Amino acid sequence: MNIVVCLKQVPDTTAEKKLNAEFRLDRTSVENIVNPFDEYAVEEALKIKEQKGGTVTALSVGPESAKEALRKAIAMGVEKAMLVSDANLAGSDSLGTAKAIAGALSKLQYDIVLFGMTSTDAASAQVAGKVAALLNLPLLSYASKLEVGDDSATSSRQTDKGYDVISAKLPAVVSVVKGINEPRYPSLKGIMQAKRTPIDVLPLSDIGVDASEVGKAGAKEKVLGFVPTKARQAGKVVKDDGAAAVVIADFLVASKCM
Ligand SMILES: Cc1cc2nc3c(=O)[nH]c(=O)nc-3n(C[C@H](O)[C@H](O)[C@H](O)COP(=O)(O)OP(=O)(O)OC[C@H]3O[C@@H](n4cnc5c(N)ncnc54)[C@H](O)[C@@H]3O)c2cc1C
Repeated sequence: MNIVVCLKQVPDTTAEKKLNAEFRLDRTSVENIVNPFDEYAVEEALKIKEQKGGTVTALSVGPESAKEALRKAIAMGVEKAMLVSDANLAGSDSLGTAKAIAGALSKLQYDIVLFGMTSTDAASAQVAGKVAALLNLPLLSYASKLEVGDDSATSSRQTDKGYDVISAKLPAVVSVVKGINEPRYPSLKGIMQAKRTPIDVLPLSDIGVDASEVGKAGAKEKVLGFVPTKARQAGKVVKDDGAAAVVIADFLVASKCM
Protein backbone atom coordinates (compact mmCIF):
# COMPACT_ATOMS: atom_id res chain seq x y z
CA MET A 1 0.00 0.00 0.00
CA ASN A 2 1.50 3.35 -1.03
CA ILE A 3 0.39 6.20 1.17
CA VAL A 4 1.10 9.90 0.65
CA VAL A 5 0.47 12.23 3.57
CA CYS A 6 0.21 15.95 2.86
CA LEU A 7 1.39 18.32 5.51
CA LYS A 8 1.75 22.03 5.80
CA GLN A 9 4.20 24.12 7.77
CA VAL A 10 2.27 26.79 9.69
CA PRO A 11 3.18 29.55 12.16
CA ASP A 12 3.16 28.34 15.76
CA THR A 13 -0.45 28.59 16.91
CA THR A 14 0.58 30.68 19.93
CA ALA A 15 2.72 33.14 17.94
CA GLU A 16 1.53 36.69 17.36
CA LYS A 17 0.86 36.87 13.63
CA LYS A 18 1.51 39.82 11.34
CA LEU A 19 0.04 40.43 7.91
CA ASN A 20 1.87 42.16 5.08
CA ALA A 21 0.46 44.95 2.88
CA GLU A 22 -1.45 42.37 0.76
CA PHE A 23 -2.96 40.81 3.91
CA ARG A 24 -0.70 37.79 3.54
CA LEU A 25 0.67 36.20 6.66
CA ASP A 26 4.29 37.05 7.41
CA ARG A 27 5.66 33.54 7.91
CA THR A 28 9.30 34.53 8.20
CA SER A 29 9.15 36.38 11.52
CA VAL A 30 7.50 33.60 13.54
CA GLU A 31 8.40 30.11 14.66
CA ASN A 32 6.89 27.52 12.33
CA ILE A 33 5.58 24.08 13.21
CA VAL A 34 3.84 21.16 11.50
CA ASN A 35 0.15 21.99 11.17
CA PRO A 36 -1.14 20.21 14.32
CA PHE A 37 -4.04 18.58 12.41
CA ASP A 38 -1.55 17.00 10.01
CA GLU A 39 0.10 15.01 12.80
CA TYR A 40 -3.12 12.96 12.94
CA ALA A 41 -2.82 12.31 9.20
CA VAL A 42 0.82 11.22 9.63
CA GLU A 43 -0.13 8.88 12.49
CA GLU A 44 -2.98 7.40 10.43
CA ALA A 45 -0.61 6.84 7.50
CA LEU A 46 1.87 5.04 9.76
CA LYS A 47 -0.89 2.89 11.25
CA ILE A 48 -2.08 1.84 7.78
CA LYS A 49 1.49 0.98 6.80
CA GLU A 50 1.98 -1.07 9.97
CA GLN A 51 -1.20 -3.00 9.14
CA LYS A 52 -0.89 -3.44 5.39
CA GLY A 53 2.81 -2.84 4.62
CA GLY A 54 4.01 -0.39 1.99
CA THR A 55 5.56 3.04 1.98
CA VAL A 56 4.60 6.41 3.43
CA THR A 57 5.73 9.57 1.64
CA ALA A 58 5.23 13.01 3.20
CA LEU A 59 4.48 15.82 0.74
CA SER A 60 4.52 19.55 1.35
CA VAL A 61 4.20 22.65 -0.80
CA GLY A 62 6.03 25.61 0.65
CA PRO A 63 9.34 27.41 1.08
CA GLU A 64 12.65 25.61 1.81
CA SER A 65 11.91 25.97 5.54
CA ALA A 66 9.04 23.48 5.10
CA LYS A 67 11.74 20.78 5.00
CA GLU A 68 11.70 21.02 8.80
CA ALA A 69 8.04 19.99 8.85
CA LEU A 70 8.86 17.05 6.59
CA ARG A 71 11.75 16.06 8.87
CA LYS A 72 9.35 15.86 11.81
CA ALA A 73 7.20 13.44 9.80
CA ILE A 74 10.32 11.36 9.04
CA ALA A 75 11.21 11.41 12.74
CA MET A 76 7.73 10.00 13.44
CA GLY A 77 8.38 7.10 11.01
CA VAL A 78 7.70 8.29 7.46
CA GLU A 79 10.30 6.94 4.98
CA LYS A 80 10.29 9.45 2.13
CA ALA A 81 9.58 13.15 1.72
CA MET A 82 8.98 15.52 -1.16
CA LEU A 83 8.84 19.31 -1.09
CA VAL A 84 7.42 21.37 -3.95
CA SER A 85 9.11 24.74 -3.73
CA ASP A 86 9.15 27.47 -6.33
CA ALA A 87 9.21 31.27 -6.15
CA ASN A 88 6.16 31.34 -8.44
CA LEU A 89 4.07 29.67 -5.72
CA ALA A 90 4.08 32.83 -3.55
CA GLY A 91 0.55 34.15 -3.26
CA SER A 92 -1.08 30.79 -4.03
CA ASP A 93 -4.68 30.45 -2.90
CA SER A 94 -6.16 27.08 -1.94
CA LEU A 95 -6.73 26.12 -5.61
CA GLY A 96 -3.12 26.96 -6.51
CA THR A 97 -1.90 24.88 -3.58
CA ALA A 98 -4.16 22.01 -4.62
CA LYS A 99 -2.82 22.19 -8.20
CA ALA A 100 0.75 21.96 -6.91
CA ILE A 101 -0.15 18.97 -4.70
CA ALA A 102 -1.99 17.27 -7.58
CA GLY A 103 1.04 17.88 -9.83
CA ALA A 104 3.40 16.40 -7.25
CA LEU A 105 1.12 13.36 -6.87
CA SER A 106 1.54 12.68 -10.59
CA LYS A 107 5.20 11.92 -9.75
CA LEU A 108 4.30 9.51 -6.95
CA GLN A 109 2.54 6.17 -6.64
CA TYR A 110 -0.35 6.21 -4.20
CA ASP A 111 -3.34 4.20 -3.04
CA ILE A 112 -4.35 6.69 -0.34
CA VAL A 113 -3.61 10.41 -0.04
CA LEU A 114 -4.11 11.62 3.52
CA PHE A 115 -4.73 15.20 4.68
CA GLY A 116 -5.43 16.91 7.98
CA MET A 117 -8.95 18.34 8.19
CA THR A 118 -7.75 21.95 8.06
CA SER A 119 -4.72 24.14 8.56
CA THR A 120 -4.43 26.36 11.62
CA ASP A 121 -3.42 29.44 9.60
CA ALA A 122 -5.54 29.98 6.47
CA ALA A 123 -7.97 27.29 7.73
CA SER A 124 -10.07 27.01 4.56
CA ALA A 125 -10.38 23.20 4.84
CA GLN A 126 -10.59 23.14 1.03
CA VAL A 127 -7.30 21.72 -0.18
CA ALA A 128 -8.18 18.01 0.21
CA GLY A 129 -11.47 18.44 -1.68
CA LYS A 130 -9.80 20.43 -4.45
CA VAL A 131 -7.03 17.83 -4.88
CA ALA A 132 -9.67 15.07 -5.09
CA ALA A 133 -11.60 17.07 -7.70
CA LEU A 134 -8.50 17.84 -9.78
CA LEU A 135 -7.48 14.17 -9.83
CA ASN A 136 -11.04 12.87 -10.18
CA LEU A 137 -10.63 10.76 -7.05
CA PRO A 138 -13.20 9.91 -4.37
CA LEU A 139 -12.96 11.98 -1.16
CA LEU A 140 -13.59 10.60 2.32
CA SER A 141 -13.62 13.85 4.29
CA TYR A 142 -13.47 14.47 8.04
CA ALA A 143 -12.79 10.81 8.82
CA SER A 144 -12.94 10.05 12.54
CA LYS A 145 -12.35 6.35 11.85
CA LEU A 146 -10.74 4.74 8.83
CA GLU A 147 -10.60 1.10 7.78
CA VAL A 148 -8.50 0.24 4.77
CA GLY A 149 -9.08 -2.95 2.77
CA ASP A 150 -7.15 -4.23 -0.24
CA ASP A 151 -8.98 -2.11 -2.80
CA SER A 152 -11.33 0.12 -0.78
CA ALA A 153 -11.46 2.31 2.33
CA THR A 154 -14.36 2.96 4.70
CA SER A 155 -14.56 6.03 6.92
CA SER A 156 -16.87 7.28 9.66
CA ARG A 157 -17.76 10.97 9.69
CA GLN A 158 -19.47 12.41 12.74
CA THR A 159 -22.78 14.18 12.18
CA ASP A 160 -25.29 15.79 14.58
CA LYS A 161 -27.15 12.50 14.78
CA GLY A 162 -24.35 9.93 14.75
CA TYR A 163 -21.94 8.83 12.03
CA ASP A 164 -22.06 8.64 8.25
CA VAL A 165 -20.20 5.52 7.11
CA ILE A 166 -18.75 6.03 3.64
CA SER A 167 -16.81 3.63 1.42
CA ALA A 168 -14.73 4.40 -1.63
CA LYS A 169 -12.59 2.46 -4.06
CA LEU A 170 -8.86 3.10 -3.90
CA PRO A 171 -7.06 5.24 -4.84
CA ALA A 172 -8.84 7.79 -2.66
CA VAL A 173 -8.25 11.07 -0.86
CA VAL A 174 -8.96 11.07 2.88
CA SER A 175 -8.99 13.97 5.33
CA VAL A 176 -8.89 13.08 9.02
CA VAL A 177 -10.13 14.88 12.11
CA LYS A 178 -8.32 15.45 15.37
CA GLY A 179 -9.05 12.52 17.64
CA ILE A 180 -8.93 9.78 14.99
CA ASN A 181 -5.79 8.61 16.79
CA GLU A 182 -3.09 9.75 19.20
CA PRO A 183 -0.06 10.94 17.18
CA ARG A 184 3.16 9.28 18.31
CA TYR A 185 6.19 11.24 19.45
CA PRO A 186 9.25 11.17 17.22
CA SER A 187 11.71 8.52 18.44
CA LEU A 188 15.43 9.26 18.98
CA LYS A 189 16.21 6.84 16.12
CA GLY A 190 13.65 8.67 13.97
CA ILE A 191 15.19 12.06 14.77
CA MET A 192 18.61 10.79 13.70
CA GLN A 193 17.09 9.23 10.57
CA ALA A 194 15.37 12.53 9.74
CA LYS A 195 18.74 14.30 9.66
CA ARG A 196 20.11 11.75 7.16
CA THR A 197 17.11 11.31 4.85
CA PRO A 198 17.41 13.36 1.66
CA ILE A 199 14.32 15.39 0.80
CA ASP A 200 13.43 15.75 -2.89
CA VAL A 201 12.80 19.40 -3.72
CA LEU A 202 10.88 19.88 -6.95
CA PRO A 203 10.23 23.14 -8.81
CA LEU A 204 6.94 23.59 -10.69
CA SER A 205 8.58 22.62 -13.99
CA ASP A 206 9.29 19.12 -12.57
CA ILE A 207 5.65 18.48 -11.65
CA GLY A 208 4.12 19.71 -14.90
CA VAL A 209 2.37 22.75 -13.41
CA ASP A 210 2.55 26.03 -15.29
CA ALA A 211 3.54 29.07 -13.19
CA SER A 212 0.48 30.97 -14.49
CA GLU A 213 -1.80 28.39 -12.77
CA VAL A 214 -0.52 29.03 -9.26
CA GLY A 215 0.82 31.82 -7.03
CA LYS A 216 -0.38 35.37 -7.32
CA ALA A 217 -0.79 34.94 -11.11
CA GLY A 218 -3.28 32.06 -10.80
CA ALA A 219 -5.09 33.08 -7.59
CA LYS A 220 -8.87 33.23 -7.86
CA GLU A 221 -9.25 34.37 -4.25
CA LYS A 222 -8.34 37.81 -2.98
CA VAL A 223 -8.02 38.80 0.65
CA LEU A 224 -9.86 42.11 1.08
CA GLY A 225 -9.01 42.81 4.70
CA PHE A 226 -9.04 41.40 8.17
CA VAL A 227 -10.75 42.11 11.46
CA PRO A 228 -8.89 41.20 14.64
CA THR A 229 -10.93 39.14 17.11
CA LYS A 230 -12.10 41.03 20.18
CA ALA A 231 -10.14 40.42 23.39
CA ARG A 232 -12.02 38.01 25.65
CA GLN A 233 -13.69 39.62 28.63
CA ALA A 234 -13.18 38.32 32.15
CA GLY A 235 -15.79 35.74 33.16
CA LYS A 236 -18.38 36.36 35.86
CA VAL A 237 -17.90 34.50 39.15
CA VAL A 238 -21.10 33.54 40.95
CA LYS A 239 -20.74 32.77 44.65
CA ASP A 240 -23.37 30.35 45.85
CA ASP A 241 -25.17 32.00 48.73
CA GLY A 242 -28.26 29.91 48.04
CA ALA A 243 -29.51 31.90 45.03
CA ALA A 244 -26.74 31.01 42.54
CA ALA A 245 -29.05 28.95 40.31
CA VAL A 246 -31.35 31.95 39.80
CA VAL A 247 -28.39 34.28 39.11
CA ILE A 248 -27.00 31.81 36.53
CA ALA A 249 -30.41 31.33 34.88
CA ASP A 250 -30.90 35.14 34.67
CA PHE A 251 -27.39 35.47 33.20
CA LEU A 252 -28.09 32.82 30.55
CA VAL A 253 -31.42 34.44 29.62
CA ALA A 254 -29.75 37.87 29.36
CA SER A 255 -26.98 36.30 27.19
CA LYS A 256 -29.68 34.69 25.00
CA CYS A 257 -28.30 31.23 25.80
CA MET A 258 -31.74 29.96 26.89
C1 LIG B 1 -4.91 35.50 -2.11
C2 LIG B 1 -4.16 34.55 -1.24
C3 LIG B 1 -2.77 34.59 -1.21
C4 LIG B 1 -2.05 33.71 -0.41
N1 LIG B 1 -0.69 33.77 -0.40
C5 LIG B 1 0.01 32.87 0.33
C6 LIG B 1 1.44 32.89 0.33
O1 LIG B 1 2.08 33.69 -0.35
N2 LIG B 1 2.09 31.97 1.09
C7 LIG B 1 1.41 31.07 1.83
O2 LIG B 1 2.05 30.24 2.50
N3 LIG B 1 0.07 31.03 1.88
C8 LIG B 1 -0.64 31.92 1.14
N4 LIG B 1 -2.01 31.90 1.19
C9 LIG B 1 -2.64 30.91 1.99
C10 LIG B 1 -2.68 29.65 1.18
O3 LIG B 1 -3.43 29.78 0.03
C11 LIG B 1 -3.30 28.55 1.99
O4 LIG B 1 -2.60 28.47 3.19
C12 LIG B 1 -3.19 27.26 1.24
O5 LIG B 1 -3.89 27.32 0.05
C13 LIG B 1 -3.74 26.12 1.98
O6 LIG B 1 -5.03 26.41 2.36
P1 LIG B 1 -5.41 26.23 3.83
O7 LIG B 1 -4.30 26.68 4.71
O8 LIG B 1 -6.75 26.84 4.02
O9 LIG B 1 -5.46 24.64 3.92
P2 LIG B 1 -6.65 23.68 4.35
O10 LIG B 1 -7.50 23.37 3.19
O11 LIG B 1 -7.32 24.23 5.59
O12 LIG B 1 -5.74 22.44 4.74
C14 LIG B 1 -6.25 21.11 4.72
C15 LIG B 1 -5.09 20.16 4.62
O13 LIG B 1 -4.47 20.29 3.34
C16 LIG B 1 -3.08 20.01 3.46
N5 LIG B 1 -2.34 21.18 3.02
C17 LIG B 1 -2.73 22.48 3.03
N6 LIG B 1 -1.75 23.27 2.55
C18 LIG B 1 -0.72 22.46 2.21
C19 LIG B 1 0.57 22.66 1.68
N7 LIG B 1 1.01 23.89 1.39
N8 LIG B 1 1.36 21.59 1.47
C20 LIG B 1 0.91 20.33 1.75
N9 LIG B 1 -0.30 20.07 2.28
C21 LIG B 1 -1.10 21.11 2.50
C22 LIG B 1 -2.82 19.68 4.92
O14 LIG B 1 -2.95 18.29 5.10
C23 LIG B 1 -3.97 20.38 5.63
O15 LIG B 1 -4.29 19.83 6.88
C24 LIG B 1 -2.75 32.78 0.41
C25 LIG B 1 -4.15 32.75 0.39
C26 LIG B 1 -4.86 33.63 -0.42
C27 LIG B 1 -6.37 33.56 -0.40
